[in-house]
Parts: sequence; structure tokens; C-alpha cells
Amino acid sequence: MDFSLTPEQELFRKSAREFAQQELEPMAAILDKEHRPAIENLKKLGALGYLGMSISEEYGGIGADALSYAIVMEELSRACASTSTSVSVQNSLVNDVFNKFANDEQKQTYLPKLATGEFIGAFALSEPESGSDASAMKTTATLDGNEYIIKGSKMWITNAGFADVFIVTATTDAAAKHKGVSAFIVEKDTPGFTIGKEEDKLGIRGTSTCEIHFDNCRIPVSNRLSDEGMGFKIAMVTLNGGRIGIAAQALGIAQAAMDEAVKYSQEREAFGQKISNFQSIQFKLADMKAQIEGARLLVYKSAWKKDVGQDYSTDSAIAKLVAGELASQVADQALQIHGGYGYIRDYKVERLYRDARITRIYEGTSEIQKLVISRSMLG
Ligand SMILES: Cc1cc2nc3c(=O)[nH]c(=O)nc-3n(C[C@H](O)[C@H](O)[C@H](O)COP(=O)(O)OP(=O)(O)OC[C@H]3O[C@@H](n4cnc5c(N)ncnc54)[C@H](O)[C@@H]3O)c2cc1C
Repeated sequence: MDFSLTPEQELFRKSAREFAQQELEPMAAILDKEHRPAIENLKKLGALGYLGMSISEEYGGIGADALSYAIVMEELSRACASTSTSVSVQNSLVNDVFNKFANDEQKQTYLPKLATGEFIGAFALSEPESGSDASAMKTTATLDGNEYIIKGSKMWITNAGFADVFIVTATTDAAAKHKGVSAFIVEKDTPGFTIGKEEDKLGIRGTSTCEIHFDNCRIPVSNRLSDEGMGFKIAMVTLNGGRIGIAAQALGIAQAAMDEAVKYSQEREAFGQKISNFQSIQFKLADMKAQIEGARLLVYKSAWKKDVGQDYSTDSAIAKLVAGELASQVADQALQIHGGYGYIRDYKVERLYRDARITRIYEGTSEIQKLVISRSMLG
């Protein structure tokens, strides 16, 4: 077994780390404080190809493998989890839908724009009354001649405040339950489509999260992705892959929290010595390191399985569960090492503590990951 990365993967890590330190780190606390979406960061990332990592060169992307993408997500998240959230939505939840389920015309229309960041995408599955139980969605799409009429609302939609194109799931046949869900492409200026209020969140405050509304919104039949009834499958396949990105994000947040804890413990003095001399601090740091290394192996393994074409659905659920829970634990312990200073906004660890929390909720809560994992064991 060979655990080494390819020269290309090493280069992705180096370039993403440099970019994150130079461009993302200085802005991260400001975006968080001002609750301002990371649009400027996304423009820069788009110009460098990071928004089209999963898009093939044929459509203007860089066609990177899943492991390179996970490495980039990890590095960007160490500096700014808000920015990496939007990068993850674009690559995992939008580009990958087009890659796998769009027809040639849809690919030609959207992928080149998504690859450069000219278009920012959003993925709209959750609703006010259905998140984990996504098949209980109430949004409908009714065929009327050569158009669908969409009615309903979606909630918690990342990037919604500034996105250009939305992947939207809606029920086309309520009697068929999850097999009656279809997926559609909706552009932002479509009549009948409106963006609702911006949510005021605990963490990842440099992202836009809004409700979106469809009031007799008409879209052409040509905007349907794949066949009628394929929408739920599209969403589930997409989330399987998306979980690798969120697991990598959680890993990056955990790594950043540990880095902050190591640094602070070597600066802060108590009882006449550096607090890093206390065994209780040393053991906290050792636990962080051991857990992060374990989670990294899980994240990389699930990405590697995707790259070699093996079934990775259970692996990505395990990686997301472990890394997501770990990010909160490590950030909590890192904050503890900072004492009172960890509790104030001037210290990065305070933001990491808040940003970590979302990785246990979106793209399937930790409880839903456990359902996926236990189903693979019990059938
Ligand atoms: C900041 C943010 C960004 C988001 N971005 C997007 C986005 O871009 N697109 C999108 O579509 N959605 C997005 N979401 C929605 C997110 O995916 C959902 O919040 C998540 O799936 C949980 O759904 P819910 O909030 O309805 O909770 P619920 O499904 O109501 O769950 C409530 C609690 O019950 C538990 N639970 C539910 N069912 C079970 C079960 N069967 N067994 C055990 N426990 C269970 C859950 O784990 C949770 O603890 C986002 C959410 C947030 C907060």
C-alpha cells in the first residue's frame, strides 16, 4: 500500500495553501464579522480554476481527481471555511450534477461558465418542512405543454443570494413518492422565482444562505435534468460525492484549530512557565493530532475510491461522520487551551469553533450518516 501523493496532488496542496494564506486568511475574520458573502474570493478562485476542479478540460475545467479536490478543500478550509463552503457547492453539488446527469446541450450551456466562476451555482433540495427526509418535499413541477410550472419553497440554500443558476428538485408525480421527484435547472432571473431572506447564522457567516420561492415559475422542458423521476437519485448520488468535500472541510477546520492551539500553548505562560509544559495540554494536543491523522486517512480513502471507480458511498458517509464530529471536538479543545481568549472574536479559534458546527448538519446530519453506514451493514 502506497500512501504517497502524486506530484500533481502535492502541487495542488502547495498552490491551494499559498492562495489560502495570502488571499483568504486576511479576509476571513472580516467576512465573518460583517456577515458578508465571500464573492471576491470566489472570483479569484474562479480565475485560477478552483471552481471548475471537477469539470473536464473539454468544458473549460481542470479535470482534477477527487483526491486533489479533497486536498484543496482541506487547505482552503484551514483559512476560510465560508469560502470553501461555496467552493464545495459549486464543485460537488452543481458541476457534478451537470457532469453526470446533463445532456450535451445543457453541458455546453452551463459547464464553461461554471468552470470559470462566471456562473455561481446553488443546489436546492431542502425545504422548510423537509431536510433529512428530502423525499417528503412539497415543491411541485407540473407539465404544461413544453413548460414546467414550479410551485413551492426551498430553504437553507447556500450561495442563493448571488447564484446565477440553481439545481432544483421538485415532485412531478406525488403518488410515486421519491421516484416521482425530478431535477431542474432554474436561472436566477426566471419570472416567478425569488430569493427570500438571508439567514443570520452561528458560523460560516461569509456564506449566503436563503430561502428561495417559486410562484408559478415557468421553465422550459429542456431545463429538466435527465428523465422525469430521476431527481431523488440525482440528489442522493450527488450528496454521496459532496460528503467527501464536507469531510475535507471539517478536516481543514480541525487542522487549523490544532495549529492555533499548538501556537498559543507555546506563547501563553501560567504558573511561571509555558502552558505547553503542562501534561494536560500536551495530551490534548496529542489527542487532536492522532484523531486528525485518522480522519485524514478516511477522507483520502473515500476520495481515492471515487477516483478508481469503486463504490464509495459508505466510505464518504464514514469520513463525513468522523471528520464532522472531530472538527467540533478539536475546535472545542483548542478553544479550551486558549482559556478566556478563546472566547473572544479577536482569536481565530473562536470562529473555527462556530464554523466547525455546520459540518455535522449539512449534506446529511451525523445521524443520517449513521443511517447510511448502518444500512450498509444490515441491508
Ligand atoms: C448553513 C446551512 C447551509 C445549507 N445549505 C444547503 C444547500 O445548499 N442546499 C440544500 O438543499 N440544503 C442545505 N442545507 C440544509 C441541510 O442539508 C439540512 O439542514 C439538513 O439536511 C438537516 O435537515 P433539517 O434541518 O430539516 O433537520 P431535520 O431533518 O428536521 O432533522 C432534525 C433532527 O432530527 C434528526 N433526524 C432526522 N431524521 C432522522 C432519522 N431518520 N434518524 C435519526 N435522526 C434523524 C436529524 O439528524 C436532526 O438532528 C443547509 C443547512 C444549513 C444550516
